Amino acid sequence: MASFGHVAVGLLAGRLHGGTPGSSARRASAGALALFAAVSMLPDADVFLVAMGASDAGAIGHRGASHSLSIALGIGLLCAMAARRLGWPVLRTAMAGTLAVASHALLDVLGSGGRGLMVFWPWSSTRFFSPWRVFPDAPRGIKLLSHAGLIELAIELAIFSPITLYALWPQIRDRIGRVWNRRQGRAPGLRLVEGEGDGVRSAASAPSVVPEQDPRLRSSG
Ligand SMILES: [Zn+2]
Repeated sequence: MASFGHVAVGLLAGRLHGGTPGSSARRASAGALALFAAVSMLPDADVFLVAMGASDAGAIGHRGASHSLSIALGIGLLCAMAARRLGWPVLRTAMAGTLAVASHALLDVLGSGGRGLMVFWPWSSTRFFSPWRVFPDAPRGIKLLSHAGLIELAIELAIFSPITLYALWPQIRDRIGRVWNRRQGRAPGLRLVEGEGDGVRSAASAPSVVPEQDPRLRSSG
């Protein structure tokens, strides 16, 4: 799966978590949204280890230990430690971090492509995948720009857009409200009056009083 589905679920975890105390669960802080979106992507950091020379076949390889439930619990623990420093609710943060990482493995397992995952590492190195592989698996790198890659990406975007919209809706609604209020605030100064040429002009640019021309000046011309 390309990154979009993982980020969408991470944003959802951020909204449900709520972030900074004082922001309701319906309106998560930007910090919580960004943190859990990043955490949901962490398992795929294994590709950098492989790029640096680690064996792709073992537990360090792609979809190995990093996609296991034990690593999800470990990252949840790190999130709890970070929560103490940030003043966030510790248990809720640990749960949100664990679920964000575990959701990554779940989406990959249900993805239509790629190898199996070491879900139960370190107790088992068996790679698992679901018999129901329902989500598209867009290729990575330059292949993503191929015809097939773009179609897979479009399907993934369509599937996960409702989750993303729900997660970001309070921010989107606030932004729309600010723009609307700003425009409403300007409206009284934008009264249009009839004029010459193009038919209308703004009242602000039109002179309020047109002085009559002096008759003496008119005759001397
Ligand atoms: Zn992955």
